[in-house]
Amino acid sequence: MQNFLLRTVIQTFLPLLTASSFAMTKVAKAHKEAICEVPFTQVHLDDPFWAPRIEVNRTVSIPSAFRECEANGRFDNFALAAGLIKGEHRGDFSFDDTDPYKVIEGASYALAAKYDERLDHYLDSVIHIIAQAQEPDGYLTTCVTNKCYRLSGWWGRSRWEKLNSHELYNSGHLIESAVAHYKATGKRTLLDVAIKNADLVCRTFGPNEGQIHRPGGHPIIEMALAKLYLTTGNKAYLDGARYFIDETGRQTDGHQPSIYSQDHLPILQQQEIVGHAVRAGYLYSGAADVAALTGDTLLQQALERIWQNMTRKKLFITGGIGSRAQGEGFGPNYELNSHTAYCETCAAIANVFWNHRMFLATGQSKYIDVCERALYNNVPSGVSLSGDRFFYDNPLESGGEHERQRWFGCACCPGNVTRFVASVPGYVYATKGRDIYVNLYAQGTAEVAGMVLEQQTRYPWDGKVRLTVKKGGGRRAIHLRLPSWLKTSPTNNDLYTYADKAQPYAISVNGKAYYPENAGYKTIERSWKKGDVVELDLPMPVRRIVANDNAEDLRGRVALERGPIVYCLEGTDQQGETVFDKCLLGDADITAQWDANLLGGVTVLSMQGKRLRRDGQVDDTPLRAIPYATWNNRGPGQMEVWIATSPSAAVATPLPTIASRAQTFSNRGPIQNDAPETAPTDAWAGGVNDQWEPKRSSDTSKPYHYWWLKRGTQESISYQFAQPTTVGNVQVYWLDFDHYDGAFRVPQSWALYYRDADGNWREVEQHEPYTVLRDCYNSVSFRTVTTTGLKIVAQLQEGQSGGVLEWKVNEK
Ligand SMILES: [Zn+2]
Repeated sequence: MQNFLLRTVIQTFLPLLTASSFAMTKVAKAHKEAICEVPFTQVHLDDPFWAPRIEVNRTVSIPSAFRECEANGRFDNFALAAGLIKGEHRGDFSFDDTDPYKVIEGASYALAAKYDERLDHYLDSVIHIIAQAQEPDGYLTTCVTNKCYRLSGWWGRSRWEKLNSHELYNSGHLIESAVAHYKATGKRTLLDVAIKNADLVCRTFGPNEGQIHRPGGHPIIEMALAKLYLTTGNKAYLDGARYFIDETGRQTDGHQPSIYSQDHLPILQQQEIVGHAVRAGYLYSGAADVAALTGDTLLQQALERIWQNMTRKKLFITGGIGSRAQGEGFGPNYELNSHTAYCETCAAIANVFWNHRMFLATGQSKYIDVCERALYNNVPSGVSLSGDRFFYDNPLESGGEHERQRWFGCACCPGNVTRFVASVPGYVYATKGRDIYVNLYAQGTAEVAGMVLEQQTRYPWDGKVRLTVKKGGGRRAIHLRLPSWLKTSPTNNDLYTYADKAQPYAISVNGKAYYPENAGYKTIERSWKKGDVVELDLPMPVRRIVANDNAEDLRGRVALERGPIVYCLEGTDQQGETVFDKCLLGDADITAQWDANLLGGVTVLSMQGKRLRRDGQVDDTPLRAIPYATWNNRGPGQMEVWIATSPSAAVATPLPTIASRAQTFSNRGPIQNDAPETAPTDAWAGGVNDQWEPKRSSDTSKPYHYWWLKRGTQESISYQFAQPTTVGNVQVYWLDFDHYDGAFRVPQSWALYYRDADGNWREVEQHEPYTVLRDCYNSVSFRTVTTTGLKIVAQLQEGQSGGVLEWKVNEK
C-alpha cells in the first residue's frame, strides 16, 4: 500500500519536476562561462608518483590487458559475430565486450601522449574486427549476435529484452573508446561504429510512443552520449543522455524499482547514495554532464544532496566507496568497516569521474579534494607497481587473504585501470575562459589557455611547489587549490577530522608573500609575464585522522596521512609480521623519511608503538607505515589503515586452534557419501575460522561466510583436518542481517556431520539440541569422535539466505 502511494505521488509530481527542469534548460550554458578540463595531451608530467605509473601502464598494463583479452576470447567473440571464425562464444558475462573497449581507450590515450606505430596498427586490426561484428542496423553486443543462450540469464532470448543485459553498458564503453581513438589518431574507424550504434540506441530508447521506456540498467551510456554530443555536435545524443537520466526511477513500462541500480526513485527525489557503487558513480557522472550541458540547476541540486550524503557518511578515507561485497555496493550510513570494505577499483574511478564533473559544474575545490584522495590512494592500490596485477576490491584491512590477480572472470577493473591511469594528467588543470585552475600539484609542463606553466615539485612527497610562467598570458586569474589535507578535515565535514591543529601554509608571487584566506582556492589575479614565479609552501606534517564516532569499526583508532597520502601498517614491516596486536599511543612521535629503494620510492613513517601480548602484557615495538596504495607489492600479509590507539583496542595474536588450522570448504549440493574429500564443486569458505570474535549476528565488519544468491536451500560448510582429530563440541555464530539484495537469516535448522573411518559423513550423536540463536554462539556437545572432517548442513529459511560468522571446534 505504502509503495503504491509512493508511486502515485512520484507519477503525479514527476512531470512537473521534469517540466520545470526543461524550462531551465532552454538556454544552454554558454561555453565561454563553462569550466573546461585541460586535455591530458597538453599536460606532460615528470613527477615521482604518476610519471612512472603512466609509463608502466603504457609498457606493461596495456599490452598485458590486450594479451588477456586475446587469451580469454574477448576478440574471438567479435570475430565470431563477424562470421570470421567458427566456434562457441566465450566468457561468462554479457559485458565482456567492454574489456577490449576499455583497453582500446587506454591505448588511445597512451598513443596520444606518446606515438607508437605498432600499437597504432594493433588498434587498427582489432577495430577492423569490431566493426565487422556490428549488425547492419548498428547493434553491437556479441553474446546476443552470437545467440549465446548459455548467457541468457543476462540477456534473455532477444535484444533489449532485459534491463540488466548490459547492452547499453556495452554501447557506452564502445562510445568512450571510439571518442578516445578518434581524438588520439584522427581516424573515424571506431567512431563511425560508435555513431551507428548510438543512433540505434537513440532511435530505440526514448520518451515517444514506439520507443522502449527504460533507463540504462548499468549506467555509462549517459556520460558516453554526452561525450559523443561534445565530439560531434549532434544534439540527439545529448537528448538521449537526458532521456536515460530522466527515465531513472520512473518505472515506466512496468519495470520494477531497484535500489541496486539507483532506479528506485527519480534522481531529483533521491537523498541517499545507495546500491551498486560503480553504477552510482557512473549514473551521477552522466547526470552531472547533463546538468552542466543543459544548465539544469534542479538536477545539479539533487546531485549535490546525494554527494553530501556520500561524503558525510559513506566515503572511505582512501577515497573509496562501497562497503559491501553483496551487491558490490553501499551499506547504511557510517558503515565504514575496514576489513570487509569493498571499495572496488572501478568505483574509485567512478568517484573521480563524478567529483571531477561536479567541480567542472561549480568550480568548487571540495570535489577535487575527493578526487585527489581517490587518485593517490584507492585508485593506485588497484594495480601493482609492476603493472600486471590488479585488485578488484581494495579493503582497508587484511588478514593476508587479499592478493592482486592477473585477470578476473569479471574483468572490469584491469581494463578500467588501464584507461584511467593514462588520462590522469587531465585532472591537473582546468580553465574558465582565460582563468586557470591549478587543481593538482605534480611536476611537469602544461599548455593552459595560451600560457605555458611549469611545476617544479616533489609532490606528493613534499609540499613545496614552484610554479613558473614559461609563456605569459596577460591579465587573468590563477586559482591555486588549497587541499583539504592542509585544514581541519580531510573531507571538509565531520566524517573525518585531524586530531592536530592545521599548520600555516604560505604562498608567494615573485618572492612577495600572499596571505591566503582559508578558502578552497587562493586566487591570484594579475598580469602574468614570462618568468613570473609562484611559490607554494604547503606543510606536510604527519597527521592523525579520527573518524566520526558513528563509524563503529573506526572507534579507538587513527589513520595516518601525510599530504594526500594515506598510510597503512603492513605485516612484513612489523615485529612478528602482525599488525592487529599493535597500537600507537597519541603522544608517540612519528618521523617521515624518504626511501628511494622501497616500493619504487616512497616516504616511510617510523614511530614507537606498543604490542599487546597474549598474556595481556604490553611491550614497546617499532612500527613502520607505508603508503596504502603500495601495499601487497611484497607478498600477502596482514595490513591495516586504521591503527588502534590503546592496547585495549588491539587484539593479541591468538594461538592456533583446531578450527583455525583446518581447511574450510563450502560444499554445494546434498551430502554424498561417495564424494571425494573435496568435490570439484567445493569452494574455499574463508572467514569462519579467522578467530575474530563477532559482536552480534549482524557484525559483518570481519570476514565471514555467506551462501551467495541461495534462498531456502540446503547448504553446507566443512572443515578438513590435516590428521584425525578428537572433537566433542562445536560453537556456531550464525549470520543475520538485512541487505537490499535479500536478507541473510539464521537457518531454519541444521545438523553436524563427521567423517567416519570409512570416509562417510555421519551425523554426530549430540547431547543437546541444535540451536539457531542470534547474537551468540550456538554450542553443541556430542559424543566424542576422532575424525578428519566436520560438516555443518544448514536448511535455510524459506526465501532467505544465510551464513556463518565464526565456527569453533573443541575437544569437548
Ligand atoms: Zn571493477
